[in-house]
This record gives sequence, structure tokens and C-alpha cells, in this order.
Amino acid sequence: MTHHDPNCIFCKIIAGQIPSRKVYEDEELYAFHDISPWAPIHFMIVPKAHIPSLAQAGPEHEALLGRIMSLAPKLALEQGCRPYPEGGFRVVVNTGTDGGQEVHHLHVHVMGGPRPWLRG
Ligand code: AMP
Ligand code: ZN
Repeated sequence: MTHHDPNCIFCKIIAGQIPSRKVYEDEELYAFHDISPWAPIHFMIVPKAHIPSLAQAGPEHEALLGRIMSLAPKLALEQGCRPYPEGGFRVVVNTGTDGGQEVHHLHVHVMGGPRPWLRG
């Protein structure tokens, strides 16, 4: 049974209680566009299970993290990022206060598209 936090904004997005622009969904992952993009293409891949951050990821999450990382390049191309090496994308996992994390549900940012970007 997947753990959900009723107070978590990303759990609410995954449950469809808050609208989002979906990029991808399967049994254990959900991807959606960032509401405040830094780059022309900016979406996030999140596990459906409520894991607060990368700091809580353990050996039991290795397969899930691997799936996220191998999904990122596939979705980046589908969303319009140009191919490597001229194009490419950036993957960011903000973790904790010093890491700049604002939403405490593990999420992997995927950013790409032509520069300049708004940030980064
Ligand atoms: P972080 O600083 O890594 O925790 O990033 C959280 C990200 O979630 C930010 O880039 C926000 O723009 C994004 N965000 C917050 N609320 C929403 C929402 N309702 N829909 C889509 N993205 C969101
Ligand atoms: Zn959550």
C-alpha cells in the first residue's frame, strides 16, 4: 500500500485533488510540469509514494530511483529537449533546507530547452 500524506501538495496532485499538467504516469511514478518553470521545459518526476526527500531514500528505493533516472531522458526528449550533446537537460533534486527544498515529497526536476533560462 502506497503511503500518502494528506497534508502534502504533491500527494494531492498525484491523487487528482489539485490540478496539474501531466507529463507521464505509471503505477509508481507521476510526472508533471512545474507551475513556475526556470527553463523553457521544466517538469518533475515524483514517486507516488510519499518519501519526504532524497535523505530518506534507502536501499529499498534503489529500483524506484533508477526508474526515475532512466525515465528522465525519455520524457525530456518527448517534451522537446534537443538530443544530447547539443541539447540535453538538467536533473536537480533539492534536498532539505540548505538544499533549497520547498516541497517535502521527493521530486526530480528535469529542465531543458534553449538558453538563456530564467534561472540556472
Ligand atoms: P523544490 O524547491 O525543489 O522543493 O521545488 C518545488 C517545486 O514545486 C517548485 O519549483 C515549484 O514551482 C513547484 N510547485 C509548487 N506547487 C506546484 C503545483 N501546484 N504544481 C506544479 N508545480 C508546483
Ligand atoms: Zn507527498
